[in-house]
Amino acid sequence: MQKVVVLGGGYAGVHAVRTLAKNRSIEIVLIDKHTYHNLQPEVYNYIASKSDLTDVTVDLYTLCEGIEHPRLSFMNKRVVDCDLEGKKLLFSDGGAISYDYLLLAYGARTFFPHAIEGLKNTDDLKKLHRALMFKQSFECSMLQKVEDECSTCQEGHIVIVGAGLSGVEIAAEMAHFSKKFFQHGTFACDNMKISLISGSGGILKGLHPKLIAKAKERLDALGVNVIEGAHMQKCDEAFVYLGAEQKVPYSFVVFAGGIEASNISSKINLPKNSKAQLLPNRFLQVEGYDEVFVAGDAAEVRDAQSGRALAPCVLVAKHSSECAAENILARIQKRELRECRAKVDGVLVALGGRYAACDLFGKIFISGFLGYLLKEFVFLRYKLPLQRISRLGYKKHKRGVQ
Ligand SMILES: Cc1cc2nc3c(=O)[nH]c(=O)nc-3n(C[C@H](O)[C@H](O)[C@H](O)COP(=O)(O)OP(=O)(O)OC[C@H]3O[C@@H](n4cnc5c(N)ncnc54)[C@H](O)[C@@H]3O)c2cc1C
Repeated sequence: MQKVVVLGGGYAGVHAVRTLAKNRSIEIVLIDKHTYHNLQPEVYNYIASKSDLTDVTVDLYTLCEGIEHPRLSFMNKRVVDCDLEGKKLLFSDGGAISYDYLLLAYGARTFFPHAIEGLKNTDDLKKLHRALMFKQSFECSMLQKVEDECSTCQEGHIVIVGAGLSGVEIAAEMAHFSKKFFQHGTFACDNMKISLISGSGGILKGLHPKLIAKAKERLDALGVNVIEGAHMQKCDEAFVYLGAEQKVPYSFVVFAGGIEASNISSKINLPKNSKAQLLPNRFLQVEGYDEVFVAGDAAEVRDAQSGRALAPCVLVAKHSSECAAENILARIQKRELRECRAKVDGVLVALGGRYAACDLFGKIFISGFLGYLLKEFVFLRYKLPLQRISRLGYKKHKRGVQ
């Protein structure tokens, strides 16, 4: 029996497992260092207390239990090395797992450039425990302001470095949250300032100008101070330094300045781009190993027509992982492989509260409450089926332990 191992239970890994499960005569093992699938694009809802941990995670153990397949299992392990010659993955606890086919779907992490001093003072929202700490610091800053009410009423200042999708979404959500917070509590000491630092490309670099214009308009309405064309050079315990001239005081800083492939990528001795993403062929196989595929943020996925590298996102993770999983099944069944035709036909940007700006196929633009409903619909369409399967797995597990 052929054993397929999927490394990473994020968007790519979960889509791949569901596709692989169509073949009931293989063994499938999903491995993740966390027990949950982190729904990263929804993290700003969590930070703004609009949702709790159960809304932004899906339990991988019960999910795998709930998927109809006789030989599908989940292993909660951290992979520390990939022995591609020996066809096995090595775990941090000294164990290992062998495979016939491997899908690398280990995603990405926030890229902290070594050249910027003091980045340890900043927050990283890609990790759920850091998002939780950030949420707590955010709420502590709010409490501090409430306590300052009749005394100093010093300005609070949250600085978000990086004005890509996640930086913009977090800035908008926090600005909206603090505005509502002070209005709702009728607190007069309401001078919580939010600054968004964007590099030379401006905000939402690479996205459609109409979407960028809408986002700017909304950030402006929420009072977010956008500092364009500035590069963070250093961060100490009190200030973020933007060049020699400008220093910005802060209560806390979030760094959302870009991504690079997860740590494990450094253990894989194969061609990579500057973000440490693997460079697969058009069938998503890695160089030299036909049985090893890569998908999602771990790979540089290219647009089939233009050949341009696609920005890492949920849609690219979905399309690439489904293709990689189908190609694994095709190889097992000795069928022809299909080319990856990943595309991004929509961008949805949450901009605080019940407001989002959406670009559909580069032709239709929707913003405001309607955009928000669309974004919620897209999230729910992904999440609800997973939660339903996970509930089935939970019931199965509970029956098993009784
Ligand atoms: C704050 C934020 C907002 C975002 N907003 C959007 C958005 O609005 N729209 C959009 O399309 N995209 C958005 N993204 C990007 C999107 O979340 C990613 O593109 C997507 O998660 C990629 O899926 P993936 O499966 O490749 O990687 P991930 O979802 O990161 O999953 C990788 C998995 O691999 C596991 N793993 C990694 N290394 C190891 C190891 N050594 N051993 C075991 N397990 C390992 C990790 O624990 C993780 O579960 C956002 C990201 C962030 C951080």
